[in-house]
Amino acid sequence: MIRITKRVFSDLAIFMMGFGMLVGVVFPFFMVVLGMDRSIAYTLWFFTVCILAGLFVGAVNIALAKSIVGKRLILMADKMQQVEAHLKEISGKGDENACTPEACHLPVDSADAIGSSSRAFNSLVDTLGMSLQLEKRMRSYTSMLTSHLETSDLCKSALSTLLGMFALEGGAILVEEGGALKVQASEGLVKNNTIGENAVVLQALQSLKRTVIDLPDDLLVDGVLATFRPRTVVVQPIVYKSVSLGVIVLASNETIADEMGETLDLFSTSFALALHNAVTYAQIQQLAAVDPLTGIYNRRFGLSRLHEEFVRAVKQNSSIGLLMIDVDKFKEINDAYGHTAGDRVLQSIASTARRQLRDGDIIARIGGDEFMAVLIGANRADTLALAESIRRSIEEKRINWGEQEIRTTVSIGAASFPEQDVSGEEDLVEAADRALYQVKESGRNRATI
Ligand code: GH3
Ligand code: MG
Repeated sequence: MIRITKRVFSDLAIFMMGFGMLVGVVFPFFMVVLGMDRSIAYTLWFFTVCILAGLFVGAVNIALAKSIVGKRLILMADKMQQVEAHLKEISGKGDENACTPEACHLPVDSADAIGSSSRAFNSLVDTLGMSLQLEKRMRSYTSMLTSHLETSDLCKSALSTLLGMFALEGGAILVEEGGALKVQASEGLVKNNTIGENAVVLQALQSLKRTVIDLPDDLLVDGVLATFRPRTVVVQPIVYKSVSLGVIVLASNETIADEMGETLDLFSTSFALALHNAVTYAQIQQLAAVDPLTGIYNRRFGLSRLHEEFVRAVKQNSSIGLLMIDVDKFKEINDAYGHTAGDRVLQSIASTARRQLRDGDIIARIGGDEFMAVLIGANRADTLALAESIRRSIEEKRINWGEQEIRTTVSIGAASFPEQDVSGEEDLVEAADRALYQVKESGRNRATI
């Protein structure tokens, strides 16, 4: 079997010199055939000259081969070293486009064996460069995915990475939430709110298959879909364990290459995993913070928010108001209408009270029929006024229960900082609890501070 490296030039030398010698030996006979005098041709002297001439031609040939082919091979080896440096630049911290054809290709201007080896070399370098580029992008993409736990941040980063990577002009990431697709990130697209209702998008979501739409040139879509004129739109479902979590919509003003589809599959698979983590994390956060019956914060989360706000109020020298709200004779409501009606009353009280609060204020259910409201920045007078407005709105509320109307009242104990001299939020809670106890003692359905 021929081996590419074994004694190439020495083999060549043996063959060329051997052939030269053979020609030297045969040459006198040939000359006799052509009419040369035998007495000259068949002499030792003539044979020696012919053989030496043959050996000389062989030697010149081998020298020429070494210099012409050998030089080119050395050139190729030098180029390979340069290419290696460029490829290392791609996979390291350097420019990911370091291996341009100018930098990494061998010039090909012949169709012979050297020409076709050079062509094969160039295409090998291109493939290697692309694979290193993809690996580098995948590494930075994965580290981006693992650095976000919040759905919206994750989608925004993923979208801008995808647009940069594929050099696209616009796109969006939509995530399923409560049966509808919600836009979590968008760049360069208009009418974002209608993308989630688009038939093609919904179709891709259901079929779990990527859809590529080529828009004809004469179709007038300027400013309708995107801020630019898209030529191709790709809708890629984000699939995790055979379930669509959402879709990635990418728009380009050029035709999108087929290979992009495979790369997009790869990227959307790891994105699906990260998105699933983010969605699960949000659900767990929600479960850990929210009272399932009323949808407001639960005791644990409410008290921890109170702690944070109290610390902030002390630091910033600002006011904070606290209300403890307890339903009056709630047992009687349960007894009269049943436990389910009681639950409905608790939900109604929570939402009625919440409507009276300002943005940023906190409300939590801290016991069976007991609620706590934290009023950020409220002084004593504000706190009492808000307590009174909550009390009145609950008193006025009629809760429909079948044919009946349930009415209820609450007692509210309030406390405010810094008017109340307290050292921690527990003391503020205790002060509000004392006020609540007084209201309960003195006949209920009242707010006091
Ligand atoms: P008071 O005016 O003194 O507060 O009288 P009350 O009847 O409201 O007394 P209390 O606050 O001690 O009673 C709370 C009741 O709330 C007792 C319990 O059966 C009921 N309860 C606690 N959690 C729930 C709940 O999730 N759903 C319903 N329907 N009732 C609950
Ligand atoms: Mg009660």
